[in-house]
Amino acid sequence: MIPYGKQEVTQEDIDAVVSTLKSDFLTQGNQVPDFESSICKYVGSSFAVASNSATSSLHIACLSLGLKKGDSVWTSPITFVASANCALYCGAKIDFVDIDQKTYNMSASALETKLIQADKDNQLPKIVIPVHLAGQSSEMKKIYALSQRYDFKIIEDASHAIGGEYLNQKIGNCKYSDITIFSFHPVKIITSGEGGVATTNNEYLASKMSELRSHGITRNLGSMKGESHGPWFYQQINLGFNYRMTDIHAALGKSQLKRVDSYISKRHEIAQTYNNELANLPITLPQQRKESFSSFHLYIIRLKLNEISNSHLSVFSKLRDEGIGVNLHYIPVYLHPFYAKFNYLSNHFPEAERYYQEAISIPIFPTMSDSNISDVIRSLKNSLN
Ligand SMILES: *Cc1c(COP(=O)(O)O)cnc(C)c1O
Repeated sequence: MIPYGKQEVTQEDIDAVVSTLKSDFLTQGNQVPDFESSICKYVGSSFAVASNSATSSLHIACLSLGLKKGDSVWTSPITFVASANCALYCGAKIDFVDIDQKTYNMSASALETKLIQADKDNQLPKIVIPVHLAGQSSEMKKIYALSQRYDFKIIEDASHAIGGEYLNQKIGNCKYSDITIFSFHPVKIITSGEGGVATTNNEYLASKMSELRSHGITRNLGSMKGESHGPWFYQQINLGFNYRMTDIHAALGKSQLKRVDSYISKRHEIAQTYNNELANLPITLPQQRKESFSSFHLYIIRLKLNEISNSHLSVFSKLRDEGIGVNLHYIPVYLHPFYAKFNYLSNHFPEAERYYQEAISIPIFPTMSDSNISDVIRSLKNSLN
């Protein structure tokens, strides 16, 4: 099976991990802060707080922005469930904004329409979480302008998007958001095994997130209440978690980060081959906005169902049968049984519904061979008729 995505681990990565294993610190050493500063330097943010997953980072990002019971968070329905679950962890409500026809990201105009109504109903969200699907940025400038007008915070879920750019600047610089989250799960652009990072330019948010990822404990005298009892002293000043990244994982992440740009160019090469070879098929190819430079974490096609005789399910199954590890990113979050109790109305998200009937992610990853690529193209052509 040619998977839809796959990590590459080099000898250099292995050496970095082994040398950390042989060092004095497997956790709470200098690998995590080193990885964090490499991320800051790469994306152009002031701060980075690593954790054991993007899911954990989303959780502490919401908490650091003061999210609590009674508040609302809005995200895209076409995302991994973690983008929505983070609101529920904080006791807040989650709602969805329909997607853009062209990019399949949260639609900025649907967001505006929903905000106008929510403003009348006194139901404005506290946080909006745009998700950069497949590695293409959401329309951050527009979303940011709306956040100024309607007073909400922004967390970019850039789990797919490290190495991507928006308006010629790296995603993660938080120019149009409070916090950006990246994932280092093995299927993403670069990996630390498991892991995530939150970038921000806000010192308060960075220190709040560092505190929350480690039990709500501080060793910083400035944050303590009263006097220190001595050199052993620390205080728990909040209810936090153990969401720390280990130094072993950070060593892998830091080593992988060196190759992020070469991975992105390889992904663009593959995407270009697909764009050329698949151009005349009855499918919609990934469309890019001119201000975007995608990381191409995913290559998502949509079937033109009125031009082919096969169903979505049969095209998908035929591809799997031929050893092409296609996938569907994503099932609209509100369709999951856990979400049924909130009674979201599918007819509020017509674009997401239509997307779910048509979308297929075909394999794209930097170590794909030319013969892998031609296998995918041949099988796709076969499966459509
Ligand atoms: C992978 C992913 C996450 C969660 O990342 P983990 O590091 O696995 O916790 C969140 N949001 C999106 C959009 C993702 O693709």
